[in-house]
Amino acid sequence: MDNCIFCKIAAKQIPAQIIYEDDDLLAFKDINPAAPVHFLIVPKKHVATLADCTAEDAALLGKISLLAPKLAQEQGVGYQADGNGPGTGGFKTLFNTGPDGGQEVYHLHMHVIGGPRPWRRSL
Ligand code: 5GP
Ligand code: ZN
Repeated sequence: MDNCIFCKIAAKQIPAQIIYEDDDLLAFKDINPAAPVHFLIVPKKHVATLADCTAEDAALLGKISLLAPKLAQEQGVGYQADGNGPGTGGFKTLFNTGPDGGQEVYHLHMHVIGGPRPWRRSL
């Protein structure tokens, strides 16, 4: 999509701190982090919002969800489950959708946010 900032990042037309890439997905650090660790996972193909996803995007959304804990672990904010209780560490995952959802960039992205609280800004 012309003039989509995340399409331009995916096409390497503008720089970003990329932490993961495969054929379908890209993950890069948020330019204005809300917390010590804050990165975004985006599909390389342009989809505007979660509400624009269809059944054809189910595998893509699954890939995004499964990638989040893997990259969180690599970035030092993984979740260590203890089997029953809360465990330790962890992170927040978030899709903002539409104006009332606080979405500013209309290219689907999952926020992955972690690190010791309090965080610098809320999302
Ligand atoms: P939204 O409010 O749409 O859910 O979140 C968009 C996020 O993208 C924000 O947290 C913002 O800081 C981040 N962002 C906006 N423009 C850029 C950019 O050019 N590069 C990077 N790395 N992050 C961006
Ligand atoms: Zn786009």
